[in-house]
Amino acid sequence: MKNKIGKKTKSHLERGLGGLGVSPGIAFGTAYVRERGAADIPQYRVPKAKLSKEKQRLLMAVELAKKQIQKLGLQASKISGSDGEEIAVLFDAYHSMLEDSRLIRGAKQRIIEDQLNAEAAVQAEVHDIASRFQSMDDVYIAARVDDIRELGFRIITNLIKSPGKVSQVLPKGSIILAENLTPADMAQINPDDIKAVAAEFGGADGHTAIMARALGIPTVLGAADLLTNVSNGTRLIVDGSRGQVILNPTPETVTRYEHRRSEMRRQVRRLERLRNLDCLTRDGAAVTLQANLELPIEMTLIKQAGAAGIGLLRSEFLFMNRDQPPDEDEQYNSLKQLVQRMDGRPVTIRTLDISSEKPAPDLTAGINEEAMSALGLRGIRLSLIQTHVLEAQFRAILRVARYGNIRILLPMVTTPSEVVRAHEIMQKQAKRLKRRGEKIPEKLPLLGVMIEVPGAALGADALARVSDFFAIGSNDLTMYTLAIDRANEHVAHMFNSLHPAVLRLIQCSAEAAFRARIPVSICGEMAGDPRFTALLLGLGLRDLSMAASNILRVKSRVREMDLTAATHRARLIMDQVDAGRITMLVDDFNGLS
Ligand code: PEP
Ligand code: MG
Repeated sequence: MKNKIGKKTKSHLERGLGGLGVSPGIAFGTAYVRERGAADIPQYRVPKAKLSKEKQRLLMAVELAKKQIQKLGLQASKISGSDGEEIAVLFDAYHSMLEDSRLIRGAKQRIIEDQLNAEAAVQAEVHDIASRFQSMDDVYIAARVDDIRELGFRIITNLIKSPGKVSQVLPKGSIILAENLTPADMAQINPDDIKAVAAEFGGADGHTAIMARALGIPTVLGAADLLTNVSNGTRLIVDGSRGQVILNPTPETVTRYEHRRSEMRRQVRRLERLRNLDCLTRDGAAVTLQANLELPIEMTLIKQAGAAGIGLLRSEFLFMNRDQPPDEDEQYNSLKQLVQRMDGRPVTIRTLDISSEKPAPDLTAGINEEAMSALGLRGIRLSLIQTHVLEAQFRAILRVARYGNIRILLPMVTTPSEVVRAHEIMQKQAKRLKRRGEKIPEKLPLLGVMIEVPGAALGADALARVSDFFAIGSNDLTMYTLAIDRANEHVAHMFNSLHPAVLRLIQCSAEAAFRARIPVSICGEMAGDPRFTALLLGLGLRDLSMAASNILRVKSRVREMDLTAATHRARLIMDQVDAGRITMLVDDFNGLS
């Protein structure tokens, strides 16, 4: 069998790979190796006036390819021995080919001279180079031609920016293996068809991981070297709880994992008994557990888990995997269905939080990827530039408000002026709807903010004056406080919401809300991990929103703990300056109570 760089390997032996277990569960299946960028290549004539812009588009795709290759090179550096060295040399060669090589020069020339679009120019150049050299019967040259094809394919994929449907024609029971999967790719997966997912890139707190948990699909990300020895049909086990992928498992390994899976299923059945019980601590404090929603498909699980409401409805799903953004009516219809299914329980709808990780190409055409980075035009910042999108969202949500108990949440807020602006826009849209004769509630929905930027947490008192409620986003708050990319597997081990700086910011935000007497909840991934429940309650939080699959696990933790003891332990923890000691105090308390 050939691996992805054309090297012969022993493929039939059992091989275990480590990665990040980001969505729990054990799955057995056969590999479906996702082709990189299997999309149709468009071809069209570019008008003379737009040729330099087209050349620029090509150069941006090349830059992106360089970054991707660099990332792959870093992954490969983890492989020891001669295999690792060989791959490292290959990636260096790829990198130089992306500099001013024949491929890139030729493609630029075709854009300018033949007025070809960038995708077609790259394709034509690759074809030309390949046919010149193919006639030479030399193994070395044949391998270089393969390399050029590989690079051309990568650049074209970047140009098309099509995520490539991942679950189109997959045999049932497949396990998707990929180099990288975006949240938009995950959104296309049907959990009834796909047993598990594993990828070489990705961190445990990025949106791809969050989406995997939402779908309830066992998933391992950041598994270096995953694609090296597999092909379609390879048998494998994915253990999304412990972060392991086992290729060609022996019968003994299969039996061992079957036992573990049965035990996990028994645990889930035990938890189901808690569904209709009150969510109270042993000393009688009431705690509200709500669900986060990424995709409408989660609604069944949200109802089954007995969620008290939807504490965070991430509206990005409405904008993913499509060419045109949804209009007001389409948003209204989708949201109305979800809200009605909650039977009057609160639903907090977050306005669009588009970022480079969760792009919406049509909305951001003309804005380069750098500008959309985590420190760039994300969340409310983009919405306040693309005001027509925010306006349509507000109108859709305001119209839905008569069908349920709705609140509106703004992402990535850093200053009170952003909230004031958004509030003005919402009121204007309410007037516009009234003029149109639409029925909207007299009292408009509460407008709250995500506290997910350190500056927002430190300035929470000022934000509380202009906000109706806070929702603490511990994912981004951790990322921005510690300067750790939440979707990057290389630094995933350093992503630690128990870092004293993060905890202080959570405490600071919660206390600002208490002082201003506005509601505060927490909806980052921390809220769904029973390990953190006692600490969060000890800090005064009573409203936690999480993936529906975590609700009963957290409820179980709430019911067995004592709030007074948790409050004392939280005070002790907040006196600490060392993350290791905090971890010890958290784990010790969980073991004791
Ligand atoms: C967060 O940042 O904690 C959050 C809940 O928002 P998201 O994960 O969608 O960025
Ligand atoms: Mg966030």
